[in-house]
Amino acid sequence: LTFLGIESSCDDSAAAVVRAGNRTEILSSVVEGQVSLHAAYGGVVPEIAARAHAERLDACVERAMEEAGVSFADLDGIAVTAGPGLIGGVLSGVMLAKGLSAGTGLPLVGVNHLAGHALTPRLTDGLDFPYLMLLVSGGHCQFLIADGSEMFRRIGGTIDDAPGEAFDKTAKLLGLPQPGGPMVEAEAALGDAKCFAFPRPLLDRPGCDMSFSGLKTALLRTRDAVITAKGGLTLADRRNLCAGFQAAMVAVLEEKSRRALTLYLESAPTAPAFAVAGGVAANTAIRAALETVCDQMSVRFLAPPLRLCTDNAAMIAFAGIERFRLGHRDDATLSARPRWPLDQTAPAMIGSGK
Ligand code: ATP
Ligand code: FE
Repeated sequence: LTFLGIESSCDDSAAAVVRAGNRTEILSSVVEGQVSLHAAYGGVVPEIAARAHAERLDACVERAMEEAGVSFADLDGIAVTAGPGLIGGVLSGVMLAKGLSAGTGLPLVGVNHLAGHALTPRLTDGLDFPYLMLLVSGGHCQFLIADGSEMFRRIGGTIDDAPGEAFDKTAKLLGLPQPGGPMVEAEAALGDAKCFAFPRPLLDRPGCDMSFSGLKTALLRTRDAVITAKGGLTLADRRNLCAGFQAAMVAVLEEKSRRALTLYLESAPTAPAFAVAGGVAANTAIRAALETVCDQMSVRFLAPPLRLCTDNAAMIAFAGIERFRLGHRDDATLSARPRWPLDQTAPAMIGSGK
């Protein structure tokens, strides 16, 4: 099966062609970011994002088809992100996909963006169900047990902010450019994590839930205390703040992953595997810590290549193929959903009541 995928839920306009058979191949994956458009505002401006998607998606699709060397006659379907995300952007993609589907007669499949991230280890490594997934991105942070391409059990997650958001906010508070994650990671590598103490939120409580808003506040307070004491931030202060912040982030994700793995292993999977996805999974310190936990617990660890961790349309095309195989078809009534929890049809949680 060969699918065109279209993604426009946040600040990346993307199109890709994926062929799945015995072997899954990404024939093309075009991603056009909008970082420069939003740079002056310190965050993604929904209205600007929606307009940029509307202007650019056509060209992304054309390029993806060209780079893949396919025409619409070679395709079996069109998959598009139908949510969750910024509604204007999602609408741009959904409208385009509906138009293409109507014009070519190709089946249309609406895909959950989070399912795209969560199924990525199947796209990259052909991973079998059930596996544990940590989806950690700009807008989300959750542990999911993936039992099937549409069967996800959420066993924990953030009760407030997402880690990516906290990285971005940290960068903003320290005067580093957006997106903050890579910047904070680079500075952290040059700093001393022990210089400033940061809290490890919710580690003292059982379960896999997490909280990151306190970390953000702690960074703001510590920064202001340094500025008050010294009249400003030195380069070393900035690096030490990044290092301390990242170390707290790593400690929380590491310990909560250990707990999520323990819950997952209770179901005695034959080939246990833990995969990360989402933009924050690009962080080397976080990846290394999670890999160590997996080694200790004899679980296979998978982390997709960076370009497939962040938003892309190859994961959408692939998730579309998996949904199509389960018999799903959408039509002109497909709507864009700003909110769309991944586990809304999930069966009872394992380990609940403990
Ligand atoms: P969602 O998928 O939840 O809708 P999103 O699509 O905006 O959110 P992604 O594109 O998956 O999120 O990830 C972007 C986020 O990843 C940003 O917050 C960015 O700062 C963060 N990020 C990217 N690289 C790194 C890194 N090396 N370290 C930490 N965070 C990173
Ligand atoms: Fe995403």
